[in-house]
Amino acid sequence: MSDTAKPSQDKSFFGFDKNPSNILPTKYTLDSKIKFRCHPGVPCFTQCCRDIKIVLTPYDILTLRRRLNMTAAEFLHVYTEPTYLQKVDFPGVIIKLNEQGICPFLKSAAEGCNIYTDRPTACRYYPVGMAHFHEGAQEEQTAEEFYFVVKEPHCKGFEEDKTWTIRDWRADQGVDLRDRMNKGWMEIVMRRKSFGFQATLSEQAKRMFFMTSTDLDQFRKFIFESSFLDSYEVDAEILERIRTDDVELMLFSFKLLAAMLFGTNDVKVKEEKLKAKIEEIKKKQEVSAKTMEEKADADMRDILAERERIRQETGK
Ligand code: SF4
Ligand code: SF4
Repeated sequence: MSDTAKPSQDKSFFGFDKNPSNILPTKYTLDSKIKFRCHPGVPCFTQCCRDIKIVLTPYDILTLRRRLNMTAAEFLHVYTEPTYLQKVDFPGVIIKLNEQGICPFLKSAAEGCNIYTDRPTACRYYPVGMAHFHEGAQEEQTAEEFYFVVKEPHCKGFEEDKTWTIRDWRADQGVDLRDRMNKGWMEIVMRRKSFGFQATLSEQAKRMFFMTSTDLDQFRKFIFESSFLDSYEVDAEILERIRTDDVELMLFSFKLLAAMLFGTNDVKVKEEKLKAKIEEIKKKQEVSAKTMEEKADADMRDILAERERIRQETGK
């Protein structure tokens, strides 16, 4: 592929939405080696910063808006557009490309990325992806975990004379910190994916996922300015931390999401609220059973009345 040819639009860290024909059919470990180098001297430099779809994780948004000194709402408005995370039925955001289809953080084709030290997770992973954890599970990583390499025709980095282990490549790209920060969120996404579409999410659940994934300012208001704390048990020490610390707040949001979406015990509903809810459900069921009983009685009365009318008309 020539330098001017259009790259694919799959520079995503979600390995499952890549073009499978570009994924090398090899499972890599941390000690596996790859020959690759990306630097301003490659003929394709910055070709992969255009015509792309870059899904932002909550930590990406947090670091980018801090770097740009913006509120979450300002950042979302200026630099992102909504998307649907493939196959998981969750709303998310991607970087909004400019009219020429170029990432707004590209300084120039020769100079590269303007926010390089804070670039999003997807840009750091490329071209090494991780087969994430184990679909549907949420504990520690398992033997199932492995890495894969995406080799797209336009990318000339594979022709460079530099060999790394996957471990060193990831360390060089600062991926480990991103993995730690994204882990809770990725587990929710993967767990949701494992359910497929059999379990439909309510609009309320989707709104909660979107808010926690994109706008921590709003999420903090939700915690401290709504009736949330009347219903949920949150340790006083954690509350103090999440009041001012954005990273702590983000990590807490993942736990709350897991509890709300999948019923984990990470954040618990207060005992009295739980009891009140159970009572409310019971009452509703009783009312519903009573209504059904009354309806059945009414139907029976109608049938008997109709029979009587026919008997009188026909004399039978
Ligand atoms: S954020 Fe930087 S590295 Fe990533 S696509 Fe944009 S310009 Fe390229
Ligand atoms: S070598 Fe690959 S990753 Fe680097 S600029 Fe070229 S296309 Fe992008």
